[in-house]
Amino acid sequence: MSRVIISSTMDAPLFSVRMRATLRGRHLAGAERIVPLSDVSQVVSDLMSRVVTGADVVADDVSCHAERIDSDALSHANLPDISTWQVSDFQEGRAVAAQLLSRAGVDPDVASRAVQLLAEGAGPGGTVMRGAAIMDAATGVRLESDPSRGVRASRMDVAIECRRDFEARLHRAGLGHRRVLEALVLAGKVISAPGIVAELCWSDDPEYPVGYVADRAHGYQRISELKPVGNPHGGRIFFVKPGTLSIIELTNYLERHPVMFDSLGKINPAARWEPGHG
Ligand code: AMP
Repeated sequence: MSRVIISSTMDAPLFSVRMRATLRGRHLAGAERIVPLSDVSQVVSDLMSRVVTGADVVADDVSCHAERIDSDALSHANLPDISTWQVSDFQEGRAVAAQLLSRAGVDPDVASRAVQLLAEGAGPGGTVMRGAAIMDAATGVRLESDPSRGVRASRMDVAIECRRDFEARLHRAGLGHRRVLEALVLAGKVISAPGIVAELCWSDDPEYPVGYVADRAHGYQRISELKPVGNPHGGRIFFVKPGTLSIIELTNYLERHPVMFDSLGKINPAARWEPGHG
């Protein structure tokens, strides 16, 4: 892989820049980057312009926060391999998601119940959570301390000198949608966490039916449909091995430990899921 290293930014102090948009106090959108100080103002402007420009401006409060990262605490990691399973409809997609979760080590009943939970809304009263649920992979018991907020994976990004190259390679593979790289980075951090068995995700964006299952052995496995277009339910579930780590330590790692990705995994061509895979 060819890589351009810009030495002046390599040693510069890094900042975590996080944007959050709300409407009447309800979370609408969030995005984040880790960049050198020299890029902070441009990134703030890019992240803000996502929610304050365009026809459908719906946020009434947008904030952006930049915070210096302790470079000694920063971990470097590789992004997971990418595969895409084509399914005929969302019902098949959900069945595939449950199979991929059990292949990763989630109990099969727990996997089916988890898919059902996201379909119904994992927050109190069937609402969409702001972050992810944490679920015991063996029993299905929910472990996050706040079932409405959940846990927010944060402080992860692609190294700035790799971003263009990764975006170009994803674009050439037909995966140029901004959501793909963002979800890949998030999944990369989640499955790097001690005690995590797998992640299940689909968006609450009614126009975006693609979702994924991620685990360390099989990487980031996109599923072409996990909900019908127009459906506003979505969410994330992080499955954990029972008793591996305290939930406080896990939450702290996911929310606060900075992780930078400096290599992209293999991009597999899209394929149909056939029973018996794996
Ligand atoms: P999105 O892919 O941004 O549409 O998010 C889908 C769902 O994943 C949201 O409804 C949240 O429940 C959850 N989520 C979004 N961002 C995060 C995050 N950073 N950490 C954990 N869960 C998240």
